[in-house]
Amino acid sequence: GVGAATGITAAPTQLIGYDRQHVMHGFTNLDRDLAPGPIFQSGKGIRLVDVEGNEWLDGCAGQANVSLGYGRDELADVAASTLKSLAFGTHFYHNRSHVWASQLADRLADITPSGIDQFFYGVGGSDAVETAIKIARFANITNGRPDKIHIIGRMNSYHGVSYGGASMTGDHAMWANIGPLLSGFSHISQPEIGSVGAASALEEEILRVGPENVAAFLAEPISTPNGLYCPPDDYWPQIREICDRYDILLIADEVLCGIGRTGKMFAIDRWNVSPDILTISKAITAGYFPLSVVGVTERVRAALSASGEKFVHGVTNGGHPAACAVALATFDIMEREDVVGQAVRGGNYFAQQLGKLADSQPILDKSTARSTGMMVAINLKLDEYGDEFGVRVHEEFVRRRVLVRSYRNNRTIGFLPALTIVNQDIDAIVDRVAESIDATRALLGV
Ligand code: PLP
Repeated sequence: GVGAATGITAAPTQLIGYDRQHVMHGFTNLDRDLAPGPIFQSGKGIRLVDVEGNEWLDGCAGQANVSLGYGRDELADVAASTLKSLAFGTHFYHNRSHVWASQLADRLADITPSGIDQFFYGVGGSDAVETAIKIARFANITNGRPDKIHIIGRMNSYHGVSYGGASMTGDHAMWANIGPLLSGFSHISQPEIGSVGAASALEEEILRVGPENVAAFLAEPISTPNGLYCPPDDYWPQIREICDRYDILLIADEVLCGIGRTGKMFAIDRWNVSPDILTISKAITAGYFPLSVVGVTERVRAALSASGEKFVHGVTNGGHPAACAVALATFDIMEREDVVGQAVRGGNYFAQQLGKLADSQPILDKSTARSTGMMVAINLKLDEYGDEFGVRVHEEFVRRRVLVRSYRNNRTIGFLPALTIVNQDIDAIVDRVAESIDATRALLGV
């Protein structure tokens, strides 16, 4: 066993039982998917310890948010001291705010793409996407364009679980069994690898719906569900140009890509493109506190206020003092430790090691070993080896206590570890991946 965790009075076996009996796990069928999983209680760096004392390697930084690793006292201490100063503060209404929200907004204005300098606080990615959609619609509706409310997204995308976020998400599973989605949405396809001119799909969709009806295009600069492929060089500049031509807002969902993940502070910076609206969450607090931010340009802010109507929106815990304080401390650490540079160097090393592994593991497609910063992936040759291999190998990852991501029906193995992961820990993850593949080959006799 492991040492006692703060506030926990029950024994490990009881805790496992309570989880089975009472915790409703997300993204699962509560009856079908009953295979027991780890119940964590502590972490340091990329290592997690579960309630039974087992050590796990976290190759996905929690939900791609624990960008500086677990066990950073500095971040925990900042949260504690802020809570002692001010347990709660709001920025609802024009006449109140708090010092952390204020300081963080100034810092964000410096680091976000040029033109973004107004910030709306929330608690998570889903509400940030919701805020962005509402802003885009409100800006048109209050300025005499009530029909210009359609939002175009992309298939193979993820934008959260609120009805707006689920509607924007390009995944049939997210649309099933929850009744009517929002109206006024459609989805185009993602750019093919190495393609040229793929942004024309957006123009075609705008013309189909009618530019007078389209408020915004919302997309992740680099999509995870699509398999962690970096879009072609011409894609985002052309998307920007098309949006400008038809007076359509460009919303970059940087909830996962933002704050260093892709080796730039924001993924869209890679193309020198500035969006009109930007969503941020996850790594802004390195996962130590819930926070989201929606950034907009002066032009969008002006459109929001021009009519004199109130933008009636906001969530109670948005921009919580402790969250903003942790975000400031996260930026301090990122600067001090050149975390964005580390993401590039570490990601390159990780992809290289996966390529080497492919030399001895023919199920891995060596040509697909790739990284954009610390977004790292390699493909399994399931066409050759069968879909069963993809299912089994992921079971072996769990058995060997390494947490990785699967995309495209297990075809892509994705790694989104802490940006600060050291090479030795990358090697440890790659070793466990190798062992898992060996075990699966033995199991299936291939
Ligand atoms: N947008 C993107 C691009 C995401 O990756 C996610 C979460 O993974 C979300 C939105 C939703 O964020 P949350 O889970 O914090 O609601």
